[in-house]
Amino acid sequence: MNAMEKMRGNEALRRRLFSAIRQGRFPHACILQGPKGCGKGLLALSLARALQCEQGEGVSCGSCVSCRTIESGNHPDVFWVEPKKTKVLGVEDIREQVVQEVAIKPYRSRYKVFVLPEADQMTVAAQNGFLKTLEEPPAYGVFLLLAEQAASLLPTVRSRCPVYALKPLSQGEVASFLMEEKQVPKEQAAFLGEYAAGTIGKALWLLEDEGFLAMQSDVLEKLCALPKTNTATVLSWAAEWVQYKQNSLFWEVLLLFYRDVLLENQLPQSRFLLEKEKQSQIAALSQALTPGQIRRSLDAVWTAKKQAAQNLNLQMALEEMLLTIKGEQHV
Ligand SMILES: [Zn+2]
Repeated sequence: MNAMEKMRGNEALRRRLFSAIRQGRFPHACILQGPKGCGKGLLALSLARALQCEQGEGVSCGSCVSCRTIESGNHPDVFWVEPKKTKVLGVEDIREQVVQEVAIKPYRSRYKVFVLPEADQMTVAAQNGFLKTLEEPPAYGVFLLLAEQAASLLPTVRSRCPVYALKPLSQGEVASFLMEEKQVPKEQAAFLGEYAAGTIGKALWLLEDEGFLAMQSDVLEKLCALPKTNTATVLSWAAEWVQYKQNSLFWEVLLLFYRDVLLENQLPQSRFLLEKEKQSQIAALSQALTPGQIRRSLDAVWTAKKQAAQNLNLQMALEEMLLTIKGEQHV
């Protein structure tokens, strides 16, 4: 399967860019903007393939030498510009990998394509060093600048590059990608889609992160059991959960759980994000509580999250949170 087929979402933008290639009016330089993991790299790869394809029809045939070598990273006229000595792209990187390289004619293709995967991380000196090339590129020069925020680039750079923004995908689009391409079961795909904030990249990281799945299942199991568990045991959970402090999604798991309880309370069976077993437990919990009690449980999570961010004692914050919720949910 080629890169084009792997990409999801942003159909209108992709149609626009590929028709520009077919009509020979693709810009010499542009910024592809979007959050980490949203597919900027895949899009750049498929644009490079379409630009360089030996069939020359503005689409990637997938079988010529050019199309086959781009994906393996061995194409002599496609360059991924990465920092060589420092963490971010510096002026030396731009000079050696772009300015000097673009002065030499393509080896065998129509274009020389330069992809800058983290263009918004370029130093100011590097951007200034890039300007002249962006102002007067050779006819064969194409520069694809990938950025989370185009606004981080100097106005002088931005004024020479149209910005194409990739939008986050819907939870359903991410979920269907996981089901179709990764054979993830439906319920798991649905909740990973929920945590992935519209990016397939993040969904894939979560899928491979066993720590996340184990943490999520531990936390959900305990939240469901909370109303019927004695205080001493609840306090021991707070001590155990301190281990999750490095896991950035710990608070999201808690917040999404009570959001689901609230949703279920107000619109029964409006949506199901969790495994079947948890669904019925959520339904039972939501029926036993008033909206006020659920909101105060959510507030308790927000308070603990804030305290953790202020570096207050995490175990104490979690104890207070769990006891507050238990107090609200005493049924
Ligand atoms: Zn081809």
